[in-house]
Amino acid sequence: MTHFTDKVAVVTGAGSGIGRALSVELARRGARLAICDVDTHGLAETEALVRQAGAEVKADPLDVSQRELVLAYADDVAAHFGRVNLVFNNAGIAFTGDVEEMSFKDIDRVMDVDFWGVVNGTKAFLPHLVESGDGHVINISSIFGLFAVPTQSAYNAAKFAVRGFTEALRQEMVRDQRPVKVTCVHPGGIKTNIALNAQQVEGRDHDKLASSFDKLARTSPEKAAKVILKGVENDRARVLIGADAWVLDAFVRLTGSGYQRAVTAFSKRSGL
Ligand code: NAD
Repeated sequence: MTHFTDKVAVVTGAGSGIGRALSVELARRGARLAICDVDTHGLAETEALVRQAGAEVKADPLDVSQRELVLAYADDVAAHFGRVNLVFNNAGIAFTGDVEEMSFKDIDRVMDVDFWGVVNGTKAFLPHLVESGDGHVINISSIFGLFAVPTQSAYNAAKFAVRGFTEALRQEMVRDQRPVKVTCVHPGGIKTNIALNAQQVEGRDHDKLASSFDKLARTSPEKAAKVILKGVENDRARVLIGADAWVLDAFVRLTGSGYQRAVTAFSKRSGL
């Protein structure tokens, strides 16, 4: 018997990376799973892994930026399983480019998935989580929700917004004694496909960006999933993943806005 035994857990962006690792780990710990992704191929692979781990699973294609579809999906999952206990709003995309280079469309796309996708998932499932009497919302932000870096303004904006939205929600749930816990997750560099799948403004070298990310990312998605689930078990408000996340969070707290000088200098030196 684990904290997750027989709980119904929803994972968005389950077709790869952290979402896949979370789904498999939840399955091993006895959860019943609703998994979704825009990538149906990756989703089918995760579905097979979750079944192998012995869990009941419902897998559906879903674009988290499509609000009406997310609302219908939440009702469908609740009807299928009879309740919903945990929602991991994990689906996300990355985009690289300076503000001067990016179109409004580029920024909208990142906000639609990385911010509105989280809001859609939270709002759609919240009534079901309350009804379960034992709910938990887990929203995946980033270390880029704790500090900003050049070329990541859209991603930074979305991830800072996820943090603000999630922290306010947690306070409301506690204030009103609602039966829903809330956790905001800030992964450091995790070895996933995020940089490979990422887009960038014209003129930026995709392969160079992806290989720089690979050098910086130190934590496996499996380890990230375990850290997230430990934070969920312990009802943590904030979960940091990886030594890089801990060090950078401390650096920002210690230096205040001064961290920006160091980050700007690093960006100039590395050409990133
Ligand atoms: P990943 O690219 O391996 O997986 C992301 C998944 O989300 C993919 O399967 C993708 O198809 C799916 N997805 C993308 N857009 C979607 C949409 N509109 N609707 C539904 N699914 C969609 O990346 P990952 O690293 O596992 O990322 C998971 C989360 O972790 C993201 O929110 C990301 O921003 C965050 N994160 C990752 C890192 C890292 O270093 N990998 C660091 C900080 C935060």
